Amino acid sequence: MTGTNGKSTTTTLLAHVLAEAGREVAAGGNLGTAALDMADLGPQGRYVLELSSYQLELIRSPRFKAGVLLNITPDHLGRHGGMGGYVAAKRGLFDHLAPGGTAVVGVDDDYCELMADELAAKGIKVVRISAEQTLAEGVSAADGILRADGVPVTDLRAVARLPGRHNWQNACAAFALARADGIADDAIVRGLESYPGLAHRQELVGTIRGVTYINDSKATNADATEKALACYQNIHWILGGQAKEGGINSLVHYFDRIKHAYLIGEAAEDFAQVLEGRVPHTQCGSLLMAVTKAAATAEPGDVVLLSPACASWDQFKSFEHRGDVFRQLVEAQR
Ligand code: ADP
Repeated sequence: MTGTNGKSTTTTLLAHVLAEAGREVAAGGNLGTAALDMADLGPQGRYVLELSSYQLELIRSPRFKAGVLLNITPDHLGRHGGMGGYVAAKRGLFDHLAPGGTAVVGVDDDYCELMADELAAKGIKVVRISAEQTLAEGVSAADGILRADGVPVTDLRAVARLPGRHNWQNACAAFALARADGIADDAIVRGLESYPGLAHRQELVGTIRGVTYINDSKATNADATEKALACYQNIHWILGGQAKEGGINSLVHYFDRIKHAYLIGEAAEDFAQVLEGRVPHTQCGSLLMAVTKAAATAEPGDVVLLSPACASWDQFKSFEHRGDVFRQLVEAQR
């Protein structure tokens, strides 16, 4: 399992689907348990591994029954000597496919689309996935309806723990892989529907007096925050921390979804200038003050969203720490 974004979600989603269908499963790699520390499940066991481009450059011997490349967007270019090196590192996953193995490839970006064609030309079994177009062959979910070879299977818009088009891509990948493992469509759908979600990634903390609270602390840059803003309306947006280059300028076209913004951390002054005249906002300083004010202002039907578009280091130990504090503050509103 690799890609620029969505690796952890897809790894845990597939592991959940396989386990629900009765398989012995261990998940790990880049996320959680290191690959070599995972329990020995015996010959029937399934190992679901998340692999970063760095790890892909290092592996030598494993043989995979199936591999997924979700997407490629420019990232970590310095480490790999530019886009060519990064794409080559990702392609390396498929050098480790066992004979007859399946390559699942997201075709919503040009790099991956080209790679799918190259792999197919080499005689490798390729399953294409897309969250942007309906595919006559492969798994797609352009309008939220998951389709296998064009035939509707389930409506992902009704699955609360997989919100947004990016998660539809992850669901397509998990579906394609579970199918490649011989699991029946209805069993896969049950697994997708019961997926509990990952902490800190658009995590549903709860609904209190009609207001929904979402912890998206993992969103440490504007690209990740954009994914969350695209999913909701009537948003009370808690943001700020240590800003990344470009700040929140790229998010301006989502501002009509925001009822009020609550600013914390170092970036607060700069972000206020972008919001000025566009979105009502309040300087809060701390997360405690932001949650308190948002909870007092939000009305039934509104969403309080922590999606900071910033690193957490100025006020917290990590994005996990920031999300945990948010969750506790929300629970205290009950
Ligand atoms: P990774 O393990 O690759 O960092 P995660 O599953 O932890 O990915 O998701 C991190 C963030 O990336 C999510 O909060 C969401 O904003 C975004 N994301 C998740 N899946 C995708 C996807 N398929 N395409 C683009 N962005 C995604």
